[in-house]
Amino acid sequence: MKRIGLLTSGGDAPGMNAAIRSVVRSGLYFGMEVYGIERGYAGLIDNNLVKMEMRSVSNIVQCGGTKLRTARCLEMLTKEGQQKALATLEKNGIEGLVVIGGDGSFRGAKVLSEYGVPTIGIPGTIDNDLAYTDYTLGFDTAVNTCIDVINKLRDTMTSHERVCVVEVMGRHCGDIALYSGIASGAEIIVVPEIEFNMDEIVAKIRSSRANGKHSNIVVIAEGVMSAAKFAEQLQAVTEYSVRPTCIGHVQRGGSPSMSDRMLAAQFGNKAVRLLNEGIGNRVVGIHDNHIIDMDIIEAVSMKKAFNYELYETLQMISM
Ligand code: ATP
Repeated sequence: MKRIGLLTSGGDAPGMNAAIRSVVRSGLYFGMEVYGIERGYAGLIDNNLVKMEMRSVSNIVQCGGTKLRTARCLEMLTKEGQQKALATLEKNGIEGLVVIGGDGSFRGAKVLSEYGVPTIGIPGTIDNDLAYTDYTLGFDTAVNTCIDVINKLRDTMTSHERVCVVEVMGRHCGDIALYSGIASGAEIIVVPEIEFNMDEIVAKIRSSRANGKHSNIVVIAEGVMSAAKFAEQLQAVTEYSVRPTCIGHVQRGGSPSMSDRMLAAQFGNKAVRLLNEGIGNRVVGIHDNHIIDMDIIEAVSMKKAFNYELYETLQMISM
């Protein structure tokens, strides 16, 4: 394979730039030409390509966001859009493609694979909602950002003896809430995978106060409801003062953590190694500390399992 393309798609995630660097440098190592495609599938449809050189990716390993920019592109869902995307690849002689993104981006990659373009997916999303990989790129950094915010909220909540409801991202997957809740010592997490019981939450708050606690943190995933709405419901049934905070888009930004940089380096390198061997239609990931690859169709059809053991751990140790 002599010429490959690379795009970032869907929601941005810290570590995408480090993955771009790894793909470009690995491609150049194998003597390939590497073209960056701007704004995800939108740029592929509109023929927005830029040739990537050794120095195009200097000084970005530490940067959040994505240098290639990203987009959600409805046109890619249509046959016409897909044909335009294929035409761009053909016109520019691009023989293989690396797609960095989440579940939706992988569905686009699957379509291109089915049209015969060898495509490799790199899981880049803060949500950690892909079943085949233990971690996605950006998740660790996003959780660390949440922890930082929750630490600060704990200070003020304790001073005023309040309950804070903190909203984190996660429409269908509660992993950001679960991990940031455990790691910051939150007493309660509310996730889309488990129906919450307000009476039990109130009882837990009361028992913690009876045991000498001066504040409580409830971490809620956005997919359940907003922090504002949940705080209103909780305030109606508790004697303690409740305050909502939505962390919002801060979670998506920032310099990637060590873990995300390591994943980026390895995912990008593995993706290009596969293309160099003429292998396409795979996604790369990490399982039990090993970098893995899997058939793209199999990967997108897997259903993510919630980690109930971790949830129980929080219930047992945070009170
Ligand atoms: P995140 O969940 O982190 O935001 P994502 O990759 O899941 O990332 P989506 O908005 O779901 O984000 O998908 C990104 C893009 O992938 C879409 O805007 C669209 O261009 C393309 N895409 C999604 N689903 C399909 C599909 N079934 N067929 C072709 N292209 C698709």
